[in-house]
Amino acid sequence: MTIVPNFVDRIPSKLEEGIIYISVSVNTAIHLCPCGCKTEIVTPIDPSEWNFTYDGETISFSPSVGVWGAKCKSHYWIKRNKIEWSRTYSNSEIEEVRIQERRENSEYYEEMKGRRQVKNPNWFRRLLKFVGL
Ligand SMILES: [Zn+2]
Repeated sequence: MTIVPNFVDRIPSKLEEGIIYISVSVNTAIHLCPCGCKTEIVTPIDPSEWNFTYDGETISFSPSVGVWGAKCKSHYWIKRNKIEWSRTYSNSEIEEVRIQERRENSEYYEEMKGRRQVKNPNWFRRLLKFVGL
């Protein structure tokens, strides 16, 4: 299964499967869950969230993407335009990962507070919460 990058200024309202839309101007990427469930996956590009590498042809994202908020509970990596599926996590494992992520995020924001103004949450971040990631 492949996913190809499409660098855009604005995130389109209608998303196509197999494309990850990346907007550097709003530091966000969005794609449809590769399982086919149509969940919109928002991955903010941020030191505490996701980063990507682009070699001119293929895109890789880090860390992995876990669609914990959707029924499918998909978990996969995007590596060189390929979806690499992880095994399915149990609910208790997912809860552990989410607690860990929250802890890491709050540590990150504590650390950044002294250094620069922390960005206000934008609509992508709120959407992310809505998606449940
Ligand atoms: Zn899905």
